[in-house]
Amino acid sequence: MQTIDEALAKLESSGFRSRFRLTESDVRYCHEKGIDVIREHAETFVKTKLAPADPVNDGKQTPMKGHPVFKAMHATACCCRGCLEKWYKVERHRPLTDDEQTRIVNLIMAWITKRI
Ligand SMILES: [Zn+2]
Repeated sequence: MQTIDEALAKLESSGFRSRFRLTESDVRYCHEKGIDVIREHAETFVKTKLAPADPVNDGKQTPMKGHPVFKAMHATACCCRGCLEKWYKVERHRPLTDDEQTRIVNLIMAWITKRI
């Protein structure tokens, strides 16, 4: 199993993934809400958008902007079950375990924390 740092380094080497940036207003939003609240948002998005066996609109369920966690989900290839399968070998068409959800949230939060 790769570490968060290994995963982040691999993502940095992808032209598409490394192009995602937080705007000033994304950073301000994170500071205003506080990192614990942002983590709760990430947990909710992962639970509702990724964890079901067959998520609604899979492949298009994560907007490109509108919340810093959405950008982090694209930047970390945790945006849909197709990307999770391609990048992390997570099989599709089965629910994500609690442990997998926690690891995804940890990766998303590591990406955000380095940028705020
Ligand atoms: Zn995707």
